[in-house]
Amino acid sequence: MTKIGLLAGEIVFVGAGPGDPELITLKGLKALQQAELVVYAGSLVNPELLAECDKACEIHDSAPLNLDQVLELLISRARAGKKVVRLHTGDPALYGAIQEQMEALDVAEIPYRVIPGVTATFAAAASLKQELTLPGVSQTLVLTRLAGRTPVPDSEALRNIARIGGTICLYLSVGMMDKLVSELLAGRIFTQQTPVAVVYRASWPDEKIVEGTLLDIAEKVTAAGITRQALILVGEVLKARQQGVPEKSKLYDPNFAHGYRDKTSAV
Ligand code: SAH
Repeated sequence: MTKIGLLAGEIVFVGAGPGDPELITLKGLKALQQAELVVYAGSLVNPELLAECDKACEIHDSAPLNLDQVLELLISRARAGKKVVRLHTGDPALYGAIQEQMEALDVAEIPYRVIPGVTATFAAAASLKQELTLPGVSQTLVLTRLAGRTPVPDSEALRNIARIGGTICLYLSVGMMDKLVSELLAGRIFTQQTPVAVVYRASWPDEKIVEGTLLDIAEKVTAAGITRQALILVGEVLKARQQGVPEKSKLYDPNFAHGYRDKTSAV
């Protein structure tokens, strides 16, 4: 297996995964082990991952820092020829604020790369043991959020997204369950019977799962005391664990040929 081999003066953005330290990629772990500076996003990065760093590694939590302070750390150490890892929760491409960091690194002419990670949606689906796309039910996954301090463009208001139906995964929104439910219903595809699963701290030892429908989920989330760090999954696919799959997949259908199983009749 090849080694990632961090270069002196390079910055690597690494997705730490959702919490379970074994859910970082091998490449991400190797980068962490080789780093001389690690700046990690405090709230959801598991400290057990930091134990993988070299004893001499300089480690900072970015939670109390602003963008300029983070950049100052990254750029000064990279310019000094250090190997630098910027550790983000889940996958850095989602709500990770990495674009502004990469833009500043472009200006500073500092090389960087990105190593992806397991995002909260897939950790939540794994905890639920739930496929998010099912034939005849949903073939579309939307990853979105309600507006908080960060606004959401009008065209992407949850009530508009909800008109698509499909499977909707909501980040950063569990503190606004009443609004979330009313917006989802306003799309007029989902009903009060539409199933919803809320996964708090998916893949962590204190993970909690709350399931219900659009009718009762807000109440159940309040009763469970969940106000943050949770992923909300909405859609008909969630019924399959109780009710079975309405249609089997074509991929493993004995009457369905494809390129890997029956070359002569492949479509
Ligand atoms: N880049 C991250 C998302 C960062 S935004 C990713 O790809 O997962 C932070 C939000 O992500 C949280 O408010 C929560 O909605 C969600 N989240 C992150 N980790 C989570 C986890 N382990 N379980 C449930 N939700 C999580």
